[in-house]
Amino acid sequence: MRNFFIILFAKILNVILKIARKQGGNILGKIALKLNKNLLKDFKVNSPVIAVTATNGKTSTNNCISYTLKQAGFKVVSNSEGNNMETGIVSTLLKNCTLTGKIKADYICFEIDESYVPKIFSKFRLDTLVILNFFRDQLDRNGEVETLILKINEFLKTYEGNLILNNDDPNVSRLGLANPNNDNIYYYHVDKYKYATQELKEAGEGKFCPFCKTRLEYEFYQYSHIGKFHCPKCNFGENEIYKFAENIDLEKRSFDVSGITYKIPENSIYTVYNHLAVLCVCSIYNIDTEFVLKSFKDFSLNNGRSEKLEINGSNTFINLAKNPTGANVSLRILNEDSSNKDLLFVLNDNIADGFDVSWIWDINFDSLNNVERIITSGTRAYDIAIRIKTSGFDHTKIQAFPELDKAVDELYSTTNNKYVIANYTALQPTRNEILRKGKIL
Ligand SMILES: [Zn+2]
Repeated sequence: MRNFFIILFAKILNVILKIARKQGGNILGKIALKLNKNLLKDFKVNSPVIAVTATNGKTSTNNCISYTLKQAGFKVVSNSEGNNMETGIVSTLLKNCTLTGKIKADYICFEIDESYVPKIFSKFRLDTLVILNFFRDQLDRNGEVETLILKINEFLKTYEGNLILNNDDPNVSRLGLANPNNDNIYYYHVDKYKYATQELKEAGEGKFCPFCKTRLEYEFYQYSHIGKFHCPKCNFGENEIYKFAENIDLEKRSFDVSGITYKIPENSIYTVYNHLAVLCVCSIYNIDTEFVLKSFKDFSLNNGRSEKLEINGSNTFINLAKNPTGANVSLRILNEDSSNKDLLFVLNDNIADGFDVSWIWDINFDSLNNVERIITSGTRAYDIAIRIKTSGFDHTKIQAFPELDKAVDELYSTTNNKYVIANYTALQPTRNEILRKGKIL
């Protein structure tokens, strides 16, 4: 009975928020969990629950799964706006349940903050868990990566559902051994691409075998510590692969799996990995390839995450980076474009960003191809400018503008291609400023 009133109250509040044109975010969940902290256990769910977790790429991957399932005609409930902690999950469920707490959907798709996986799924149904990667990220909140992995490993010891793992990330691949009784482990692997390297170019985790502590041997690195590895002593990393992407062609924006060519919207290796994870999910649930092909071609987030815009005749690529790997992926995309370009880097240190911005020292600014100018902005505009200067980039070509509007005005004073990297709280204000710029001229 108590839950009935909580749900009723949440639904009324949701209507009020809608009328007031306010985005609810986590608020419904926050209030509901205050009234019943175990509310998550009480929802009635009959449909498969698919969850995606990772340091980078959760939102795009989860949204691409939802999008594909919707294309195939299913009703999907998802936290597509990225509220990925317990309050966000409960908010999403409250908006999509009946007054008795029943969720009406064919599939439930969630992105989940890495540190919340055990907490949420000790109380809520889980059928398929997808794990993309683990990198250093906001260390002050998550603790060291290793602590986080051990926490998830502990949860997986008793989990018997589908587990889709990136075989090319040792931090992820190791989790396939957490429960030897789980027969539902699916590894995916991406073949060497054009810009893969023999040496580790960027800061990476997981250089040693987690089981026997021997140094891992890599055939190649795709980016950061993601690549083809194995342990020479205990053979860790040599798994049977469920889905294997080959013929990676970033110019054509395509890759092949089992003889079928999939087109993707972005020319980044990082996107290939995320889409391959989506493909694994679709394959497990027998979604027709026709829908997957169409969805991969059409799907776009349009929220500043790997987004392409044309502003005043300049091609503009915007991407989020809240850790070194995220930034390095964007810089790779920039370096793989041979034209002249300008880079805008916006760095904030608000609560959601983490106050510690020392991660910028792990970004690889060493070789910037045909970058004519770099503009920095945000509350830490000068920190990022100094960081770039110490990498050896010509300091006369770096300009710092703490005020975002001035930075964006300066950025569009030329017609070069533009690359924009912004961290968490900087992303939407930067995107808005850029869109405003596009409208005015
Ligand atoms: Zn080993």
